[in-house]
Amino acid sequence: MLDLIKKFESPTIASNIYLIRDAATKKYAMIDCGGVCKEMDAYIAENNAEVEYILLTHGHFDHICAAEHYRNKYGARIVISEEEEEFTSNNTLNLSNLFGCEMNPFKPDLLLKDGQTIMVGESEITFKLTPGHTIGSGCYFCDGNVIFTGDTMFSMGFGRTDLPTGDPSQLQNSLEMLYKYKGYTIYPGHGERTVIC
Ligand SMILES: [Zn+2]
Repeated sequence: MLDLIKKFESPTIASNIYLIRDAATKKYAMIDCGGVCKEMDAYIAENNAEVEYILLTHGHFDHICAAEHYRNKYGARIVISEEEEEFTSNNTLNLSNLFGCEMNPFKPDLLLKDGQTIMVGESEITFKLTPGHTIGSGCYFCDGNVIFTGDTMFSMGFGRTDLPTGDPSQLQNSLEMLYKYKGYTIYPGHGERTVIC
């Protein structure tokens, strides 16, 4: 069980960074990190937070830009889907070239397959591949009714499909899969959370 889901905003790009905490062990994971966030750093310092994982929903720069920084700072392991691995070292795929954002390539520590689980303390997080926005976009399911959706699904819409590896028909399939989770709360990569109804 989680006892904390805390949202921060990356200061330059307005993408969400979440910190989640396992209730039993007080271990943390970060979900996406599109920039260095002083407010989150202050929270982590004040709470002596032990961040075990950096769970990336997909490889666009506004979700991964600070992953290497935070891996070095907190000793966390970077996790992304295996389909998305190339994004972490290809500045055309991750759009940092397009948006004129400087990003150093990095290697993830762990590559996920569809359905794979990760333990954050005693909380089980399940990764489901939801391609369409990018080929290896995915969502993290936790606590029975919580989904971190990245740019696959927002409170009022869904992610673009006109960027490299995007595919509208794949996204439609992914959204249809997600719409089956009625009553679940989604925490998207941009904007506010909502409940699937
Ligand atoms: Zn994206």
